[in-house]
Amino acid sequence: MKVPGVSRREVLQQGIVAGASVSPLAKLLKLDKPQGKPRILAVSSGNGMRAVTKAVELMKEGEDTLEAAVSGVSIVEEDPNDMSVGYGGLPNEDGVVQLDACVMHGPTYNAGAVGALENTKNAARVAKTVMERTDHIFLVGKGATEFAKMHGFEEVDMLTERARQAWVRWKERLSQTDDYIDPAASEFLDPRPTGTITCLTLNEAGDMSGTTTTSGLAFKIPSRVGDSPLIGCGCYVDNAVGACGSTGRGEANILINGSRTVVENMRHGMGPEEACLDVVKRICAQTVEKRLLDEPGKPNFQLQFYAITKDGRHGGASIKGGSRYAVHDGKEARMVGMASAF
Ligand code: ASP
Repeated sequence: MKVPGVSRREVLQQGIVAGASVSPLAKLLKLDKPQGKPRILAVSSGNGMRAVTKAVELMKEGEDTLEAAVSGVSIVEEDPNDMSVGYGGLPNEDGVVQLDACVMHGPTYNAGAVGALENTKNAARVAKTVMERTDHIFLVGKGATEFAKMHGFEEVDMLTERARQAWVRWKERLSQTDDYIDPAASEFLDPRPTGTITCLTLNEAGDMSGTTTTSGLAFKIPSRVGDSPLIGCGCYVDNAVGACGSTGRGEANILINGSRTVVENMRHGMGPEEACLDVVKRICAQTVEKRLLDEPGKPNFQLQFYAITKDGRHGGASIKGGSRYAVHDGKEARMVGMASAF
């Protein structure tokens, strides 16, 4: 039995044997068993080691769970080397970087979101400002960009040189019948890059929050909004139950309201990994269009869900194997493997 992120020695030490049922990883790490009292916890996607570290540091100082999560993902939003989030993110088909993000604050059951936001690095913080400073939840396009400007967010040219080059090469290769000359092999071309960051937080009082932020699908049609800013899709928090965030093919997630469905699964008794895996399997079953399938029942895209519970359990699941997520349990940050449908 292979569990991503867990060595064979660890498996043997824990006495886990081949043929163990549905959630070997959860059993190994004892993630699916209620742990009792809430404890400080931050969970993020695979690109979120720095985010969980920052979030826990802030929660230990008594910072609110949402502020902790947003401060965590801001590090990655500002990093030009992560080409799936914030500054340096890959642009839309016109070469314009458009960001999507949402936040959800457990204690107040409130949320904020922005879609197709331009010229601003910190989409998650703009989403938090929508939540805090308006009676609305979701601002998109020009209005979201103007709102950020009004609240003093720095106006930035978001297209880095590296992202511009990736866009030009994508454009040059689009058609054999236009006047652009196809580029030679390039680090940017294959596969079409994807990515996003999500961060879920829990403090010792049992309060939770979450945020998901992204530059979205690379080279998307302008104004395409993905799952990331949609409450219930990119992220969902129910302060009485748990929280879930997602990364991967947004269109598939939107169709099942994935994060909300994971939280509802946990409300009805499933552990976090089981709850995520259930939604992943339902997505596989619902994906019937040929162009989206490797073979019947096996989607050709990736989608991940990450979940935490009020009592500090965590887990995740993805369509294809090999995905890992970042966890900080108050003691240390580490990467953990997730369950998968394939
Ligand atoms: N979920 C993002 C979107 O569809 C992309 C990703 O996470 O790869 O916009």
